[in-house]
Amino acid sequence: MSKQPEQELIDIRAGRDLSVLDLISVDPLTDDDITLIFDIARKFRDFETHKFDLNKNRSMVNVFFENSTRTMSSFDLAGKNLSMDTTSISSSSSVKKGESYIDTAQTLDSYNVKALIVRTSESGASEMIARHVKAAVLNAGDGWHEHPTQALLDALTILDHYDVTDMKDKIVTIVGDIRHSRVFGSMVRLFNKLGATIRVAAPQTLLPMHADKFGVEIFYDVEDALKDAHVVYALRVQEERGSNGYIPTLREYSKMYGITRKRLDLANDKALLMHPGPVRRDVDVHSALVTMDEQSHILRQVENGMAVRKSLLWLLCNRNDGKTKDAVKL
Ligand code: ASP
Repeated sequence: MSKQPEQELIDIRAGRDLSVLDLISVDPLTDDDITLIFDIARKFRDFETHKFDLNKNRSMVNVFFENSTRTMSSFDLAGKNLSMDTTSISSSSSVKKGESYIDTAQTLDSYNVKALIVRTSESGASEMIARHVKAAVLNAGDGWHEHPTQALLDALTILDHYDVTDMKDKIVTIVGDIRHSRVFGSMVRLFNKLGATIRVAAPQTLLPMHADKFGVEIFYDVEDALKDAHVVYALRVQEERGSNGYIPTLREYSKMYGITRKRLDLANDKALLMHPGPVRRDVDVHSALVTMDEQSHILRQVENGMAVRKSLLWLLCNRNDGKTKDAVKL
């Protein structure tokens, strides 16, 4: 008789735990952590339609001080799929009324939840919250800093597409608003760990200061940057973070940096076209390429997002080593 999906997950996990108690950044993740997250995510993906009871009697709150479509729905559905009780708070009224992030987080922590999924428009806020709550904090995007689950799901998409365990012979070209992108923040840290060659192509004004310190090759000509790339990763111009002041007009930006068929053809034949969403069609990427083109992996990224978030929620809310956090009270 074939094994229950739950048992297959337990077997794959083999008693392993993550070295971290929160997921704020990809920086502290060890090679073993990354392998563990992906081993489990792949198994969850195999049982896409099965409802698991692995996190039964555990609850989580999505605390989204900044808007979200896919990250919030993906975490929420991932938690529900593991039989967690979930609730979501978006653009919290308590903060508008003058309560601090820490007080709001400690209030939610008092419900004895196992995880707080936190998004803020300020960099560093989820790390600060993590020190003050017992629940595991998963950073769902903090300002311009990091978006670790996005980078993890992106890495899984690339590794599985090429059927490899690292990115040592892979060129990843990232095009767009690097300066304001927390996706870039996590991606550059994770992809460097995995051994990728990372190229960035952007107007000089949309590059962070000291971009050369990130371990990337900088290009101002997108066509040069795309040559032979294995991954073409487009980033949105983040108007809500003031990017419009850094480019002449979106139309001109798009003409110089938008991904078109002709530009994509400069990359490797098997190159993946990726984008974290939301896509601005005909600005970041030509409309015909977004979902219809066979090189586009944009919807595959979303599918892998669910699998990676299930993996993290199971690992962080259900530890074998019994490790817990101390919460600093103010
Ligand atoms: N969804 C991603 C983020 O939250 C990318 C974007 O918004 O452009 O950072």
